[in-house]
Amino acid sequence: MRHRIAVVGSGPAGLTLARVLHRHGHPVALFERDAGPDARPPGGTLDMHEGLGQLALDKAGLLPEFQALSRPEGQAMRILDTAGTTLREWVPRPDERANPEIDRGQLRDLLTGPLDVLWGRSVTHVVSGIGDGTVVHFADGRRETYDLVVGADGAWSRVRPALSSVTPHYTGVTSVETSLDDVDTRYPDLARLIGDGSLGVFGVNRALVAQRNSGGHVKVSAQFRAPLDRFTDLEQTEVEAARSTLLALFDGWAPPVLELLRHGTAFAHRPIHALPVSHTWPHVPGVTLLGDAAHLMPPLGAGANLAMLDGAELAESIASAPGPGELDEAVRGFEQRMWARAATWSKITTAGLERLVSPDPAQALALFDQVQPS
Ligand SMILES: Cc1cc2nc3c(=O)[nH]c(=O)nc-3n(C[C@H](O)[C@H](O)[C@H](O)COP(=O)(O)OP(=O)(O)OC[C@H]3O[C@@H](n4cnc5c(N)ncnc54)[C@H](O)[C@@H]3O)c2cc1C
Repeated sequence: MRHRIAVVGSGPAGLTLARVLHRHGHPVALFERDAGPDARPPGGTLDMHEGLGQLALDKAGLLPEFQALSRPEGQAMRILDTAGTTLREWVPRPDERANPEIDRGQLRDLLTGPLDVLWGRSVTHVVSGIGDGTVVHFADGRRETYDLVVGADGAWSRVRPALSSVTPHYTGVTSVETSLDDVDTRYPDLARLIGDGSLGVFGVNRALVAQRNSGGHVKVSAQFRAPLDRFTDLEQTEVEAARSTLLALFDGWAPPVLELLRHGTAFAHRPIHALPVSHTWPHVPGVTLLGDAAHLMPPLGAGANLAMLDGAELAESIASAPGPGELDEAVRGFEQRMWARAATWSKITTAGLERLVSPDPAQALALFDQVQPS
């Protein structure tokens, strides 16, 4: 029997779920709020861990394509102090495949493949437990009924309220993001400083992180502790005024490091939010959550990986549950596994953020020493 399944959101979680189900011959309705794939910039680079994101790609049958697109050299990492002195440098071996990087846009296209994403379908809420399924309500007034509705709609999920009244809280750390193009040609000294992967500079309650994407594009994140409402008007501010605000925050840092901010093209205000470390909910038949909608956590290289593994595992659970009673049991079992894994990573990333943007910059270095392969 084919279950009627709706997936809300075509991020890493929703796409992986739909793609693995597609591999098992099970169609889904994949609803996405964005008007199309290019409605907004796809974002920066993602590292895919061997036992998480890469495992999910394997379950989708996409590991060889991923290996062809990804950048193993992007695992390189250099840590500086605020005076610009190199404290640590790690260059991966050519055969190192633990966490290769891939541009988000490339990953999205890889996962999408033959899927038919229903663009411009913004969900407002879902209602379960009425009639013969869960009803999805759309912003244009339409409504549709499914056996299972999966909320893969990210941090500010519209599906989540059907299961949980919890909303993300501000972590106390704000990130302001900017980017640089053509670094190798336009800023060769900076390109050398960044290297093939990431550059991290850690000061007192401040961090600057630069990550190389493909094609000489670099994403920069300036992270600092601040009240939530402190920089809300940054994006409305004229770009040079925003730059001055940021340069003042990082005053005294080595000039070569500050070049990351001097050459940034535009500045985006991204306060870092998270759900509670062990976010769970009483199981409700006909609706569940995946990825950030279920377990938003600080961005320390795990969220997309977990989102994809959630998607792949839920797909496999659904595919092995042909009957209606079996579907509910499959979802229930999946939720237990997802909650346990997410709680582990949520603890790790929450503690990690405290150490990376910390009153004691030595904490960031100690974290690097703890996680970096030797
Ligand atoms: C700066 C930064 C760097 C990061 N780096 C990494 C990294 O290196 N590695 C890693 O693993 N993770 C990383 N993460 C975390 C990662 O981006 C997220 O965990 C991941 O994108 C979550 O995937 P998702 O599919 O659950 O949600 P999302 O990626 O948020 O996708 C949700 C989708 O749902 C759609 N949607 C939202 N609301 C609706 C609605 N009402 N109706 C229909 N559609 C809707 C959205 O448009 C979107 O397409 C990073 C995060 C940030 C902010």
